[in-house]
Amino acid sequence: MEIQWVESLFFSTDKIANEMIIIHHTGSKNGQINSLQGTINWFRPERWRSTQQVSAHYIIPRAEGPIIQMVRDEHTAWHAGKSRWVINGVLRENINTRSIGIELQGDGQLYRYTNFQYKALIWLVKQKMEKFNIPLELIRGHEEITPRKPDPGPLFDWDRFKKGLTSATVPGSEVPADSDLVDEDGDGIIWLDETDDVNIPSGKDRTILETIKDFFAGLFR
Ligand SMILES: [Zn+2]
Repeated sequence: MEIQWVESLFFSTDKIANEMIIIHHTGSKNGQINSLQGTINWFRPERWRSTQQVSAHYIIPRAEGPIIQMVRDEHTAWHAGKSRWVINGVLRENINTRSIGIELQGDGQLYRYTNFQYKALIWLVKQKMEKFNIPLELIRGHEEITPRKPDPGPLFDWDRFKKGLTSATVPGSEVPADSDLVDEDGDGIIWLDETDDVNIPSGKDRTILETIKDFFAGLFR
C-alpha cells in the first residue's frame, strides 16, 4: 500500500488528540461519483478560496492506487464540521480537533465501495488504531457525529470493515512464507511500525516487502 502526499490548503494546528477516526465519502453529482482529482482539487484549490474550506487527512480512491494524504495526522483537518460525540465519558464538540478524517471516493447512498477501498481502509485504520491507541468504538461515520450528514452511507459495510480491523492479518500486505523470522526480534509488528514513516510528508511509502527485505538484510549485516 502506498501513500502519496498532496498538501491541502485547509488545516489548522489546534489538534488536541487523535481519539477518533471518522469515515466519510466524497459524494456524487447527478449519479456521477466525484473524481479523485476533483476531490484533491477541492481540498487544494489552485486559487485560494475563502469559503467552503474543507479537507481530510486521507482519501482512498475506488481504483487501486496510492492513498492520498493531504493533512498531517498531528494537524486538524476540516472534515467533520459541527459535530459531537461522547469520548471516554465526556461529550465533545468540534470533533475535527480530536480525529483523523478519511474520505472514501464514492457515494454510499448510491454505490457500494470497492474491494480495494476496504483493503486500503483496513490497512490504514489498523495503523492509526495502534499508533494512537484508538478503540474500535471510536471509529465512526460522519453521519453518526453530524446527524444531518449522509456519509459513508448505508452501502458502507461496517461489519466487513470491523471484521477486517479485528482480524490478525493485515490486508494488502500478505507476509511471505518465511515470515516466521520477522518475529525473531520478538515483535511481529516491526514492519507495521515502519510503515508509520508514511506520515512524514515525503511522498512515497516503502512497500511491506521492501521493509521485510531490509530487515533480513539487517540481520546479516
Ligand atoms: Zn463527511
